[in-house]
Amino acid sequence: MTVSTTPLIEVRGLSKRYPVGTLRRKMLHAVDEVDLTIGAGECIGLVGESGCGKSTLARVLARLVDPTEGEITLSGVEIGAIPARSFGGSPLRRDIQVVFQDPTESLNPGFTVFQAIADPLKRLLGGSRREITDVVVAAMDDVGLPREYGSRYPHQLSGGQKARVGIARAIAVRPKLLVLDEPTSALDVSVQSLILHLLAELQKQRDMSYLFVSHDLNVVRLLCDKIAVMYLGRIVEFGPSNSVFRAPLHPYTRALIDAIPDPDRKNTVRTKLEGSASSPSTRTRMPAAFQDAVR
Ligand code: ADP
Ligand code: MG
Repeated sequence: MTVSTTPLIEVRGLSKRYPVGTLRRKMLHAVDEVDLTIGAGECIGLVGESGCGKSTLARVLARLVDPTEGEITLSGVEIGAIPARSFGGSPLRRDIQVVFQDPTESLNPGFTVFQAIADPLKRLLGGSRREITDVVVAAMDDVGLPREYGSRYPHQLSGGQKARVGIARAIAVRPKLLVLDEPTSALDVSVQSLILHLLAELQKQRDMSYLFVSHDLNVVRLLCDKIAVMYLGRIVEFGPSNSVFRAPLHPYTRALIDAIPDPDRKNTVRTKLEGSASSPSTRTRMPAAFQDAVR
């Protein structure tokens, strides 16, 4: 038997720039020459502070937004040059599904739970009414949504239930990669852990790869095999979660880890984060201490 060594997703030199300013002459480097590989069944955590480019990278990789430069290959097929609009209507859309941050915004208020989950299935897989119903019901079971909720509308659901609908809709088409953009940050803390547990279970059961975007390093550490640390549009550190935590090679990663509140670590000296990641357009280069891209 030959085992395929082609990664599920390979990203090379990926950049996304937005024209900004009153004359739109300045360029904001939201994502800057990123390389990233995601293997089959792997869970990659993407962390970094707000505004560093996580959502942009997730959206470009999921082919909702076109890159300015770079390549994205899916199972060895180059998909980076396919316009996002065409990709949305292609059979490849099935392979990469997205779970968004705000379950309220990502659900159509006029669709019942059943319709919300069935809609992408009809467009991407087709099948008889009976077949679609079976898949919707199985997806609802898998995410812990009682079947009678199928006829409810989003305004009749709690935040956690809406999050479950968003996850059911994404997994129903059996994607190879699930891109999760801060999927629990809009939820109450008690619900967050239930949803994270569910996501961990689903990944095992359905053998999917995850790109899990979060600003919470603790969450990523629990869930992900590897961590990619993003700073000002670049991946500054990438490695197995445990090594990144135990021995961060990059000063920015160390600063992120030190910023995690830990009651047992009251007296340790913390690495101070200096500068701001909120204005990538004004930078021409990274601060000297942050320049070495490692791991
Ligand atoms: P994060 O998810 O890490 O908070 P984002 O990817 O949302 O970061 O944003 C990265 C940078 O790109 C920010 O400075 C943001 O304002 C900018 N940005 C994102 N989308 C757009 C857009 N459509 N047009 C202009 N700038 C954008
Ligand atoms: Mg974001």
